[in-house]
Amino acid sequence: MDTVINIPQAHELKRVVIIGGGFAGLELAKKLDKKLYQVVLIDKNNYYQFQPLFYQVATGGLEPSSISYPHRKNFQKNKNFHFRMCEAMSVDPETKTIKTSIGNITYDYLAIATGCDTNYFGNDNLKESTFALKSVSESLLLRNRILLSFEEASIVNNEDEIREILSFVIVGGGATGVELAGALADMRKSILPKDYPEVDFNRMEIHLVDASPRLLSGMSEKASEKAAETLRDRGVIIYHDKFVKSYDKPFVEISDGTRLRSRNVFWVAGVKPNSLQGLSENAYNRGRLAVNEYNQAQGYDNIFGIGDTSLLISADSPKGHPQVAQVALQMAKQVAKNLNNKSKGKTWEVFKYKDKGSLATIGRNAAVADLGKFHFGGWFAWWIWLWVHILSIVGMRNKVSVFIDWVWSYLNYDVSLRLYIRPEYSEMYKEEDAIETNKHKK
Ligand SMILES: Cc1cc2nc3c(=O)[nH]c(=O)nc-3n(C[C@H](O)[C@H](O)[C@H](O)COP(=O)(O)OP(=O)(O)OC[C@H]3O[C@@H](n4cnc5c(N)ncnc54)[C@H](O)[C@@H]3O)c2cc1C
Repeated sequence: MDTVINIPQAHELKRVVIIGGGFAGLELAKKLDKKLYQVVLIDKNNYYQFQPLFYQVATGGLEPSSISYPHRKNFQKNKNFHFRMCEAMSVDPETKTIKTSIGNITYDYLAIATGCDTNYFGNDNLKESTFALKSVSESLLLRNRILLSFEEASIVNNEDEIREILSFVIVGGGATGVELAGALADMRKSILPKDYPEVDFNRMEIHLVDASPRLLSGMSEKASEKAAETLRDRGVIIYHDKFVKSYDKPFVEISDGTRLRSRNVFWVAGVKPNSLQGLSENAYNRGRLAVNEYNQAQGYDNIFGIGDTSLLISADSPKGHPQVAQVALQMAKQVAKNLNNKSKGKTWEVFKYKDKGSLATIGRNAAVADLGKFHFGGWFAWWIWLWVHILSIVGMRNKVSVFIDWVWSYLNYDVSLRLYIRPEYSEMYKEEDAIETNKHKK
């Protein structure tokens, strides 16, 4: 498609195009001085998603709208800002043009902030038969799957079938896997027996399979031990140093030979970068955009890589930085500062990551925290986790609504969003999908 996306020209200003409005892209768009640059943000979705709380949407704890925010609303008061909802496919650095699903767009500076997608490590069968958690839509799909299981359990009599329906297998023992397992364990204890008195929840099993020797391998050993101990106390069955070999529905095969029967296999085992075509092979390292200390992509002065999709190897970070929100935010701030300073003739500063610590929650009153030299768990860590997340959510209405939802659930031992809502798939959608698909083929 060679049409040009219609964006008003701002002749006197250089144009910065940002691909991806997640943690990194959104922060960069906010921090760039729009008196100095015309900023164009493009994203596949017209909203920002707060990924750390996807598991709460999946387990009925929060509304999807509480953790999402429309891009256009975020920039209503900004001149020289434009948003276009589309998917970027490739970049031509010669002509400084990006090819997207709705046409081409030119740039003076380009920031690639496309983040990551779920990694199935080449196993197509697992991709098709398991549930992932990398978008709000996938969180809703997971929520429906979880709720449907309990509805199914309430009408089935066959013992094997009940076990299969009430068995949840979570693959991946990082923060998401731990949080999902903890939330399901909380539901089993305090919510489900009230909703489904006819189901015996002693038969519900939660399995957490992790390929690493310890859960939360990015955190301290103390945090890993505490997380494993708390989950075990809450009845989660943990498999360390094991991986899921196959899922031939309904049988899940684990590398130690264990065979589980389950309809609910949740894949949160890894991520792979969302990369674009058109840049030279040297620009990539392990699939991520290799960037220097100014976040410039290898071989390109005017192309930046920020957030999860980028890899910055330096003396400070010989293996690169962790793919977490703080790195994405700090990289975006640094690039914005450098670009804003450039037009004032100031020299650029190199990126230095300030590790503010890590937190993961395991469920009600339980979390683990690594804050500098301090490693602790329990109620206090959970309290910190709660406030850090409320403060990080985008939008005042969202902060208030999450706060109210959490206070309500805490006091009532309940979450109120156990709604099995299926979007109607009408002919009109089919037509729109066909248009989208054709665009992508061109
Ligand atoms: C379930 C889950 C839980 C997490 N929990 C935590 C946590 O507790 N703490 C923490 O620090 N980190 C957590 N993370 C990691 C954190 O969310 C990421 O590090 C962070 O989102 C990275 O920001 P980013 O801007 O690089 O990418 P993202 O936030 O993923 O944003 C990428 C954006 O690019 C868009 N996009 C992608 N490809 C294209 C394209 N071709 N064209 C147009 N748009 C495109 C996407 O729609 C998206 O909006 C979690 C991640 C997940 C999935």
